[in-house]
Order: sequence, then structure tokens, then C-alpha cells
Amino acid sequence: MLIGKTFGSLTVIEYTGEKRISNVSKHDTKHYLCLCECGNTIEVSKPSLEYKLVKNCGCKRFKKIN
Ligand SMILES: [Zn+2]
Repeated sequence: MLIGKTFGSLTVIEYTGEKRISNVSKHDTKHYLCLCECGNTIEVSKPSLEYKLVKNCGCKRFKKIN
């Protein structure tokens, strides 16, 4: 259960069901609604959370080096 856990700036608040991510996976993936520390909510797939591909709602994007 991921609900209540934090990943970067995100806190998992709700399980939103299994959904397919086109071009990424051939299988349905569990998704969770997460609350960012800035107050926005974002739906994130479980692997994106576990592998820390998504750490916030987009409010803290890294600056491009080039
Ligand atoms: Zn945010």
C-alpha cells in the first residue's frame, strides 16, 4: 500500500485504479493520486513513484543545462 507514503514532494493520497499507459507498457498499471507540497494534485503510476521518475507535480522541474 502506497497511500500515505511520500515520494519527493508528493504524498500519495488515493488509489485511482489500473490504467494503461500507451507506448510505455502493455499492461495496466496502478495509478495513485498524489498531493504535491505546492498544493496541486497529480495522478502518477505506481512505477513512476517507485522508480522516482516523478517527484513532484511539475512545479520543480530541473533547469535544462543546454
Ligand atoms: Zn507541485
